[in-house]
Amino acid sequence: MTLDEAIKLKTELLLEGLTITEDAMGTVGEGGLEKVFWVFEMTPFEHKGSGDGSRPLPNDMLLPYDMYVDVRYNPNSRFKVSLSGNSIILLKNGLEVCEVRWPKRPDFYDRKTSSGELMKKVASVRGDCGLRICFDNACNYFSKNEQCKFCNIVPSRQRNRKHVVTVKETQDIYEVVKEAIIDNEICPHLAMTAGAAADDGLGNLPQILEGLKPLQKEKYFPVVTAITATRNHEETEYLCSSGISSVAFNIEIWDKELFSEICPGKQRRIGRERWIQSLFEARDLLKPARALSSFVVGLEPAESLLEGIEFLSSNGIFPIMSPFIPMVGTEYEGKPSPDADWIWDVHEKATDIIYRNLPEAFSDEIWNGDIGICPSCTTTKLFFDFMRRIVPRENPRRRTSQKSVEAFI
Ligand code: SF4
Repeated sequence: MTLDEAIKLKTELLLEGLTITEDAMGTVGEGGLEKVFWVFEMTPFEHKGSGDGSRPLPNDMLLPYDMYVDVRYNPNSRFKVSLSGNSIILLKNGLEVCEVRWPKRPDFYDRKTSSGELMKKVASVRGDCGLRICFDNACNYFSKNEQCKFCNIVPSRQRNRKHVVTVKETQDIYEVVKEAIIDNEICPHLAMTAGAAADDGLGNLPQILEGLKPLQKEKYFPVVTAITATRNHEETEYLCSSGISSVAFNIEIWDKELFSEICPGKQRRIGRERWIQSLFEARDLLKPARALSSFVVGLEPAESLLEGIEFLSSNGIFPIMSPFIPMVGTEYEGKPSPDADWIWDVHEKATDIIYRNLPEAFSDEIWNGDIGICPSCTTTKLFFDFMRRIVPRENPRRRTSQKSVEAFI
C-alpha cells in the first residue's frame, strides 16, 4: 500500500464509515480504546451501545503509515472490521485490505476526580496523544434555532448525557489534565472546545485557563481553544495571553450567503466580518500559523472554499479542513456524503495553496503538536495527511493496544 493509497483509504472510511463484527468488538474497551462522543456524535448512523457506553465502538483505528482514522458506524458501508486469529482485519467488499490496530486505553479512563466524576466523562483521548475537553457541551445557538446545520452538539449531549458531563468543573479539568499530561505523560497536548456561550463571549473558559496555569508552570504543553470568534479585541488579547499556544475560530464556510444560511448563529451573533477580524487579531498576538480556522469541506463549491483558503493563508491564518459528514441528529442527517475523489482534489489544491502562502504551518513544531493537535490525533481530518505528501515525514510513534497486531504496508 502506498502513502496515497493509505490516505485514500482514510478518506473513504471517514466518508463511508464501517461495520464491525462482534468478535472484533470484543477487543475494544480493554486493550483498545472505546469511543466517547466527547463533543459531536460524528457518525452518519446511530450505533446502539456507543452512546450509552454499553457496547462502544472503538474510538479510532490505526491504518498503515501510522495513520489514525475516526471509527464511524454505517450499516450500509462496504468496509467491515473483523477478527482473524489474533489479527484485526479491515475488509472492503469482503476482501482483506490491511490489518489494523486500536490505540491503547489509558488508565485514567477508569479513575475518578476528587468530586467523584469519572475522568473519561471529563476528557477523552483522540488517536493516542490528543487530550480533548469540551468544557461546555451546550450551544446557545440551538436555543434560538440558529445552530450550524451540520452540527449535533446538543442532540448528542442529550443522547449521551449519562456518559459525558455537560459543563465541566474547573477543578475536574485540572485533575484530568494533571493526570493525563503532567503526572503520567499520556497526552502531550490539549484541545478544548465548547458550543457558543450564552453571552456570545468566552463563557467559563477564562476560569478554566486560570485553573490550568499552575500546571503550565510545571511543564509546557500546547493548548488550542476552538471556540466562537471573540466579541472584541480585549477578549482576543486575554485569550492569546492566557497560556494557550493557538486558537481556532472556525468559520466553516467561506461563501458569504452559504455562511449565513448554514451557520445562522455565527452570522447573526458575531458576523462574518468580526469573525475574520478576530482571526487577524489572534494572528498578530500568537506565533506564526497559530491562528486557525476550520472549514467543513463538502457544503460549498470548491471555488469558494479555495478562495477562503487563499485569503486566510495569505494573511497568516492557518486554514484547516474537516470533510463534511451528515451526522445523526443534524439538519443534514441522511444527506449523501461528499465524493471521495472530490474531497481528495480539494485537499490537494488547498494544501498546495497553504504551502505557498504559509510555509510556517509545515514547521517541525506544528507537526509535533504545538497547535494542540497533531497528525496522530486529527483522526476526523485529513489536512496533516496531505501536508505529509508535500513535506515527507513520519507520523509520531504511538502506543497501541496489545489486543491487536502490527499494521503492514
Ligand atoms: S457554534 Fe455551530 S458548530 Fe459550534 S457548537 Fe454551536 S452549532 Fe455547533
